[in-house]
Amino acid sequence: MTYPVVELKPGREKSLLARHPWVFSGAIAREPGGEPGDLVDVFSSRGEFLARGAYNPRSQIRVRVFTFNDEPVDVDFFARVIGDAARWKRALLPEDTNAYRVCFSEGDGLPGVIIDDYAGHVVLQLQTAGADRRREDIVSAIERELSPRVVYERSDSGFRLDEGLERQSGTLAGDAPDDIVPIRERGLHYFVDIQHGQKTGFYLDQRDARRLVERIAEGKSVLNTFSYTCGFGVAALVGGARRVVNVDGSGPALDIGRRNYEANKLAAGEDSFIEADVFDFLREDEETFDMIVLDPPAFSKSQASVPRALRGYKEIIMRGLLRVNPGGYVLAFSCSGHVDAGLFQKVIFGAALDVGASVQILSRLTHAIDHPINIYHPEGEYLCGYFLRVGRPGTRAPRYDD
Ligand code: SAH
Repeated sequence: MTYPVVELKPGREKSLLARHPWVFSGAIAREPGGEPGDLVDVFSSRGEFLARGAYNPRSQIRVRVFTFNDEPVDVDFFARVIGDAARWKRALLPEDTNAYRVCFSEGDGLPGVIIDDYAGHVVLQLQTAGADRRREDIVSAIERELSPRVVYERSDSGFRLDEGLERQSGTLAGDAPDDIVPIRERGLHYFVDIQHGQKTGFYLDQRDARRLVERIAEGKSVLNTFSYTCGFGVAALVGGARRVVNVDGSGPALDIGRRNYEANKLAAGEDSFIEADVFDFLREDEETFDMIVLDPPAFSKSQASVPRALRGYKEIIMRGLLRVNPGGYVLAFSCSGHVDAGLFQKVIFGAALDVGASVQILSRLTHAIDHPINIYHPEGEYLCGYFLRVGRPGTRAPRYDD
């Protein structure tokens, strides 16, 4: 099988030789034209085959590479990649866990393809024209490798608009569930709304951080901001927290949070679920807590909006630091791809300095193992978090006894 050829400018093959899976328009000498998502072969100026991928004349990223080999990109190809990822990930998941990210786009070698498996309910997100055009093959490969009850499409991220695609969602195979779907994570019960929930329904990427919260929660009061369906809140209570307050702007998310409490036989108090803007809540409420989780949505979706995002992060971190009891903990996260761990640490530094808090970094947190980063594509990393211990505001050095 031969495909239309994209020929690179002299010397511009370097990034493909270093296995970076994107070809930018500026590197191209000759391109074939054609439809978004067409398969193409990429050749160097000296006529060497470099890669095979999906072409999109509407995107600055003209080609996204599916393979560096001269091999068909067909159902068998997708089945091989998906089946392999599913097997190694299942082997590494914690015990009694039946929800995980099967495919994390470039991280797993399939640009634009996100596949989450929620106890056999598979949610598919196709983010690029190249992925979108292979919908049928990808669904067949999922059916073959994962034997799902349903394959439900949630291609409704803003990402698609840049690729010239409409948002799209609905059932692709099997039957959509009548209700939210129960999953288990380390034996804890959670419900996932695969049809209407945020992203594909659940923040699988925070699995390790939920474990950390459970491990340290004993006897503590916990404020869980941007709680969504109360994943961190449930983990804290199961870990023995004496009080948990979840705050989110979404009523439907908090309703699922209530059902998550019930499923784990956890008692809810009057103010367990607060539907409010977190910024307003942090400005107005005065209670202090032993542990505060700050896990906001991506404040920045582009390079241009990074400065504004940093101001948002700094504000909530400052307010969090002021509301944690001496010797307490703050878990601060950013899931903005354009804000890396180094930059986020600087924001925490600025916030700590401004409020005069002693802050120790206990560990850096990132996505769980089913969200791998391709070493040749560091852009895949988006989630970074800091596990912080906070001393008494105004103290000059951290005190280990407070
Ligand atoms: N911590 C969650 C995921 C957070 S996603 C988890 O682990 O599951 C971000 C959440 O922030 C969403 O639930 C969204 O409804 C909420 N949100 C976004 N902006 C908000 C705001 N200004 N005030 C309150 N909630 C907000």
